[in-house]
Amino acid sequence: MSQAQDPTARELQQPWAQAGRQPRIAVVGAGMSGIAAVVKLRRAGYSDITVYEKADRVGGTWRENTYPGLSCDIPSRWYCFSFALRADWTHRYPYGAEVQAYLEQVAREFGVNEHVKFNCPVTDLHYVGPQWRLTSGDGESAWYDVVISATGILHRPAYPDIAGLQSFTGDCFHSARWDHSVDIAGKRVGVIGTGSTACQIVGAITPEVGEMRVFQRTPQWMAGLPQKKYSPAWNRLLGRFPLLQRFAYHYYFRLMMHIFSAATVGNKPMQRLVSWGCRRNLEQHIADPELRAKLTPDYQAACKRLIFCSDFYPALASPHAHLVTEHIAGVEPAGVRTADGALHELDVLVLATGFDPTAFILPTRVTGENGVDLAATWNGAPRAHRAVAVPAFPNFWMIEGPTGPVGNLSLITISEHQVDYIIAMLERMKRDGLAAIAARQDACERYNAEMGEAIRDTVWMTGGCDSWYFDASGKPNLYPWFPARYLREMHNPVFEEYELVQ
Ligand code: NAP
Repeated sequence: MSQAQDPTARELQQPWAQAGRQPRIAVVGAGMSGIAAVVKLRRAGYSDITVYEKADRVGGTWRENTYPGLSCDIPSRWYCFSFALRADWTHRYPYGAEVQAYLEQVAREFGVNEHVKFNCPVTDLHYVGPQWRLTSGDGESAWYDVVISATGILHRPAYPDIAGLQSFTGDCFHSARWDHSVDIAGKRVGVIGTGSTACQIVGAITPEVGEMRVFQRTPQWMAGLPQKKYSPAWNRLLGRFPLLQRFAYHYYFRLMMHIFSAATVGNKPMQRLVSWGCRRNLEQHIADPELRAKLTPDYQAACKRLIFCSDFYPALASPHAHLVTEHIAGVEPAGVRTADGALHELDVLVLATGFDPTAFILPTRVTGENGVDLAATWNGAPRAHRAVAVPAFPNFWMIEGPTGPVGNLSLITISEHQVDYIIAMLERMKRDGLAAIAARQDACERYNAEMGEAIRDTVWMTGGCDSWYFDASGKPNLYPWFPARYLREMHNPVFEEYELVQ
C-alpha cells in the first residue's frame, strides 16, 4: 500500500510529540520481551500499540522449542515478570510447557493479546523520517512513529554443514523443530551437539530409546541442576504472602548474578568456585576414567555458556549410551560415518546444533536514514548503542539487541529494564516535542570500543574456547561488565548520547 493510500499516513505526518497525540508503536514479536513491552508501555500511558507476531500464539522461544526435557535453567521464582510473580510454580526450574503456559496466561491477563496481529511476520521496515513504514507478510503496509524489535536472539536454527545430511533415510530434525510424530521409544537415536539443548534432550530421552549416540565435537563444563518439586503447602504460603514471592525473586536474581554472571566477567573467586563445582559434578557422576577424560574440556568453565543439567552425565553412563568423539565425516542413508571409518547406524538423528546468533530482527529488511541497510551495517557483527539503539535508525529500539548481557542472566529481567529505558526516551520526546531520537554515531562507537577493550578480560575471551558468543568481529557479542551496571544504566539514560531531532 502506498503512503497516499494508507489511511494512517496523513494523520502521521506531524510528529506525535508535536501533535499531542499518542505515538503509534509497532512491536515486532510476542515473546517474553514483546509481552514485557506491551504491559510496561501501557502502564506508562502508551496505548496505541500493535504487536506483529509471525506465529499463532505468544511465547517466542518457549513456543518454538518443544523438545523432550525442555526446561529453564533459571529458577522459576526469578524467571518471571516482576509485575506478574506467581506462587504456583511446580518446580524450582520450570519445564518448558509451564513457562509457555505462564507467558500465555500473562498475555491474557494483562490484555496483551488484544494488541497482537498473529500469523503476521514483519518483512520490511523502512524509515521515512520521522516515521516507519512497516510491511508485513500479507503485503499490507502501515505507518508507525516508533518501532520496537522484540524478536529475541536465537530464533533461526543453525543446520550443520555435514556432507550427505540430506541422504539420511531415518527421521532427522533440528531440536527447535522437534517432530513429535516420530516415536523414539526403542529406536537408535543420534544427537549431534552437547550444548544446553542437547544435554536436556539426552537426559530426557535416553531411558526410553533403544540406543543413544551423542556426537560431541567439544566437551562442555556442566553444573548440576538442583531441581526440586515445590510442595502445594509451600506454594500456598507464598500465595498468601506475596512479599515472600518478591523476596524469592530477588534472592535468586542476586544469587545467579553474584555467582554465575560474576564468574564470567573477571571475578576470580567465583570463577574458581564455578570451575570447582563443574569438575566435582563430572567426577561424581562419571566413574569410567576413559569417558570422564572424553568429557573433560580443555578450557575454563563458563567460557562457553555454562550448562546446568543433572540428567546428562547419568544418561551417558547408562549401558546403551555411547559418546562419540570422533569427527563426523558425513551422513549416509543408514547413519553417521565418523572419521575413524565407523558407521553409526541410526533410526533418528537430532540436530541440537544451535542457532544463528547474529539474526536478532533479521531477516526482516530494515532500512534506516538515507537508505542504510541494517544487515549491511552489521555485516555479521551486530552492534548497537547500549544494546537498544543503532545510529541512523531513529525511533527504532531493540529489546535483547546486540551485546545484550545474556551471560546466564534471566532475559525477562533484562527485557524489563530495557523497556524502562525506551519509555524514558518516549517521555523525553513528549516533554520536548521531539520528532525523532537516534543514537549518535560517535557515542555508539565509543561505547562499543570500550566494550571491545573490556571484553578481553572476560572468561569468554580468556577462557580458551570458541562459542556462539563470537561473531564476525572475532569478539563475543556480550556485555563485558557486571550485569548490575547495565541494569543501572538502563535507568539513567544519557541523552547527550543521542541526536534529539526537533
Ligand atoms: P549451542 O550451545 O550453540 O550448542 C550447539 C552444539 O552443537 C555444540 O555442542 C556444538 O559444538 C555442536 N555443533 C554445532 N555444529 C556442529 C557440527 N557441524 N558438527 C558437530 N557438532 C556441531 O546450542 P544450544 O544447545 O541449542 O543452546 C543455545 C543457547 O540457548 C544456549 O547457550 C543457551 O543460551 C540457550 N538455552 C538455554 C536453555 C535454558 O535452560 N535456559 C536451554 C537450552 C538452550 P561446538 O561446541 O564444538 O561448537
